[in-house]
Amino acid sequence: TVTTRFAPSPTGHIHVGNARTALFNALLARGRGGHFMLRVEDTDAERSRDNFLTSLMEDLRWLGLDWSLGHDAGGEQGPYRQSERQAIYARHFKRLDDAGLIYPCFCTPEQLKRSRAAQRAAGKPPRYAGTCARLDPDEARRRLESGEPASWRFRVPSGRRIEFEDFIRGPQSFQSDEIGDFVIRRTDGTPAFFFSNALDDALMGVSHVMRGEDHLTNTPRQLLLLEALDLPAPVYGHLPLIADSDGGPLSKRAGSLGIRDFRAEGYLPLALLNYMARLGHRYDEEDRFRSLEELAADFAPGRVGRAPARYDAQQLLHWQKVAVARLDADAAWQWMADAVAGAVPPGKARAFCDLIRHNVVFPAEARAWARRLFDHPGDLDADTRAVVEESGREFFEAALDALEATGPDYQEWVDRIRQTTGARGKKLFMPLRIALTGSRRGPELDGVLTLIGQTEAARRLERCIG
Ligand code: GLU
Repeated sequence: TVTTRFAPSPTGHIHVGNARTALFNALLARGRGGHFMLRVEDTDAERSRDNFLTSLMEDLRWLGLDWSLGHDAGGEQGPYRQSERQAIYARHFKRLDDAGLIYPCFCTPEQLKRSRAAQRAAGKPPRYAGTCARLDPDEARRRLESGEPASWRFRVPSGRRIEFEDFIRGPQSFQSDEIGDFVIRRTDGTPAFFFSNALDDALMGVSHVMRGEDHLTNTPRQLLLLEALDLPAPVYGHLPLIADSDGGPLSKRAGSLGIRDFRAEGYLPLALLNYMARLGHRYDEEDRFRSLEELAADFAPGRVGRAPARYDAQQLLHWQKVAVARLDADAAWQWMADAVAGAVPPGKARAFCDLIRHNVVFPAEARAWARRLFDHPGDLDADTRAVVEESGREFFEAALDALEATGPDYQEWVDRIRQTTGARGKKLFMPLRIALTGSRRGPELDGVLTLIGQTEAARRLERCIG
């Protein structure tokens, strides 16, 4: 069976970039009837925060990306929080040590920095120079015993070609001689990313790892590690990065694209899902709005492109419009209720929602409409004032008389105005709309009249008489 995972480090809120990674993994698992796992990579104690963990779980659940394995969900290969797996890491670390595949490294950060700079200056890609790989084992032991801080490095075998089939990008090939010995355990004793990440994938039965392209060069290192540990490797697929609309890296703006911020603005989960599912993945019938199940059923790694995906706020807005239009009455009310609370008179809430929901894309707009309808239509701008002036006060006097005669029956009311003034079409409806709502555009006038009632409608017509 397919088991995928999302493996965030809880060092910030999740944003469109890492939520897309979570989504693709969830889609792959769902589409194949497999499992989706949440693994918490919190070995960096200084930067990891519980509130980020809580918030990322909330955001994933809000999106509908529930996990059946992992942190907070159970499963047999737990704990699924790396900070609780020290004993496991220690055990496998010891296996590598016993096999002579790792060694302590006493190089200080300054030394490493200087060495990297020297390699760069010589036009070579910077990698560990192997200084401590050549230390006499007795000396190394002495220095360890004296308490000198050491990280531990994996001894990368020389002269090996590492090949793998990336299930998104196709065949990949790396030369081990181009990979420096890398750190698997930090000076403070915590496991380094390469080690805990690869080990957990293997121990937790992850079958498919889908992650950002920035991890592509990590994969040969992790394959060497798993081979050394005699553990099964997952298959890997690397996703194209997401670029900002101006082509720069999205990561710079990640802070402004937090899933919780979209939620607070009133974006709907399905709008974000439909949008993110297309960030680098192509669907047939590109325009078809899909449920999460449909997004999963039609998801295929072969349809993930290689070119960077571009973040496009307009596209997201498009899906938001579609998603809002598809809400049923109850869902629409839930969606806007908080925003319009206090601005809609009791008893009129549902009628207001039914009227307004086809005219708004965000709850804040519904609130603005509630104010406009139940509080004050707002001052006229030059544009709307011109319409009022052109219609003239006789028109509004006639409208007012008609309202008194017919009462708030919309059809009878406009028929009567038509008869007495001879106005029709736009000349009839636009000034009435502006009088009642203060705006050239908006919900059905019929419903507006019913909602605000005869007295308020009369007051608004009087305003146009001056
Ligand atoms: N914690 C890693 C990250 O956030 C996970 C990378 C991976 O998916 O393997 O980048």
